[in-house]
Amino acid sequence: MRFDVITIFPDMFGPVFRQGVVGRAVERGLIELQAHDLRDFTHDRHRQVDDVPFGGGPGMVMKPEPVFEAVESVMLNNSGPVVLLEPWGRRLDQRLAEELAKEPGLIIVCGRYEGIDDRVRTGLAAYEISIGDYVLSGGEIPAMVLIDAVGRLVPGVVGDPDSLVQDTFGGDLAGCPQFTRPAEYRGMRVPDVLLSGDHARVRQWRRQQAAQRHPVNNIH
Ligand code: SAH
Repeated sequence: MRFDVITIFPDMFGPVFRQGVVGRAVERGLIELQAHDLRDFTHDRHRQVDDVPFGGGPGMVMKPEPVFEAVESVMLNNSGPVVLLEPWGRRLDQRLAEELAKEPGLIIVCGRYEGIDDRVRTGLAAYEISIGDYVLSGGEIPAMVLIDAVGRLVPGVVGDPDSLVQDTFGGDLAGCPQFTRPAEYRGMRVPDVLLSGDHARVRQWRRQQAAQRHPVNNIH
């Protein structure tokens, strides 16, 4: 799966996606990830990507031309939908991540300033996605959240597919407490049932724990 990100801060992405599960997937070629500098698609000496809002008001708005040109250039190599990250968008959840993981790629546009000229939304975007009801200073961290959530669902990225099922929201054993050795640490003992070797009891215990911990899981 291919992720192309359009941003004024392309350098933010390298360090994050060189590590961990997604980093390995990039190395193995399961995921392709490229951050494109929006300023490369300007034509003026100052490489300006923002301008004052029509109608007045505080702050600056991201100009449409560089974003359109950047997206069109990326589209030559990425047939996936264009995603805008915006605080008023559809809230990202596991279901949406699963829907997006079926795409051949995503073209992700990161906003900055007061937001992006609305013609980008009406003219280009297939999805407007928010990572939660709060306002961040830019779309880069939301883009990283989205790429991580979607990328780990790409087949082969997470080594053991059972681990996806065991995740919160992944199945009915979702989000249960996990323990590893030692069986007792600073007087805190691992629940006996996990040491019992009785798989049916383990499953039942995990289901109970998961339900207590994440009532929302009961809807799955
Ligand atoms: N004035 C805008 C906020 C702009 S924040 C408004 O109130 O809607 C600047 C950029 O940060 C946005 O364009 C978006 O790309 C990003 N951003 C901020 N909060 C976000 C969130 N919760 N989810 C996704 N993107 C967000």
